[in-house]
Amino acid sequence: MQPIELFYPQLDTPRKVVITMHQKPDGDAMGSALGLYHFLVELGHDATVISPTNWADFLTWMPGVKKVIDFENQKEKARTLIQQAELIFCLDFNILHRTKNMEQPLAAANGMRILIDHHEQPQREAFAYGISDTAKSSTCEMVYDFIVQSGHANKLNVDIAQCLYTGLMTDTGSFRFPSTTASVHRMVAALKELGLKHTDIHEHIYDNFLENRLRFIGFALVNRMEVLYEYNTALMYVTKEDLYEYDIKTGDTEGLVNYLLTIRGIKFGALVIDRNEERKWSFRSKGYFDVNLFARKHFEGGGHMNAAGGRSSDSLEGTVRHFKHVIKEYQIQLQ
Ligand code: 5GP
Ligand code: MN
Repeated sequence: MQPIELFYPQLDTPRKVVITMHQKPDGDAMGSALGLYHFLVELGHDATVISPTNWADFLTWMPGVKKVIDFENQKEKARTLIQQAELIFCLDFNILHRTKNMEQPLAAANGMRILIDHHEQPQREAFAYGISDTAKSSTCEMVYDFIVQSGHANKLNVDIAQCLYTGLMTDTGSFRFPSTTASVHRMVAALKELGLKHTDIHEHIYDNFLENRLRFIGFALVNRMEVLYEYNTALMYVTKEDLYEYDIKTGDTEGLVNYLLTIRGIKFGALVIDRNEERKWSFRSKGYFDVNLFARKHFEGGGHMNAAGGRSSDSLEGTVRHFKHVIKEYQIQLQ
């Protein structure tokens, strides 16, 4: 993977471009993809955003989202676009299997893959050019840097601002995580000057659920949470029946894991959800407990030091048992 700066001159030649992100895109994945999309269209490129899967309802207000292709719904069209693309931007993930069923077409593509991402341990050999910076708050911040550093700050507009602010806000936990640097706030100031209405975006993302989701959270907090005080850890598990009972859709469980860290003294929060094809883990920590390493070692996952995910093919009961077993190794670290 060559440095992204070496790619900048190629922005001047209009190309066929595909932009993609990790499966079940969150605010940062969709925001960065659409922010880059609006920028590349301004530059005269023929760009399409392809998501590996569907996405949450709270992202459906975003400018350009109606043109995003869901790979699982439009496989043939998506495959053709990927095959024909001269450039494939890969945003907010760094290892091709995070795109689920799109891994094969992406790996087989002739076009140049370009990485913009802030997760740990990128698959460098998979990308022609790129930037991987784990110190960055969000991929949206990196797309902003990409636009400014490539000399195109004049192309920023309010659509781009709305998209990029979304990921900046969601990935920093509304500007509270340690990754919220002075330059993040400077970026927000610049977006405000472009006409960004930040209150509207917060409402679109956080005040846009149905009643069932709030009742589900109440149910899960009362019935599905265990606090393991000897490890300063809180654990939550959600069954298939719970998801069915409360009619839980993509995106409705986002943020649930964060409640675990609101208990005084809790340093590690772990949520597992029984999805059809796998048990999906979300890990969050405070301070120096590294959930990226934990997820990699025990649950085939990864991410960041304080926020990571993983999976298991075991039953829900089995994977929870495994968690309670391996956590014993970390008793001292978690004090
Ligand atoms: P979440 O818990 O919100 O799904 O994910 C937390 C962070 O970990 C995100 O940055 C996400 O991209 C990353 N992540 C989630 N699941 C996985 C996984 O299975 N593998 C890897 N490498 N990263 C993951
Ligand atoms: Mn991100």
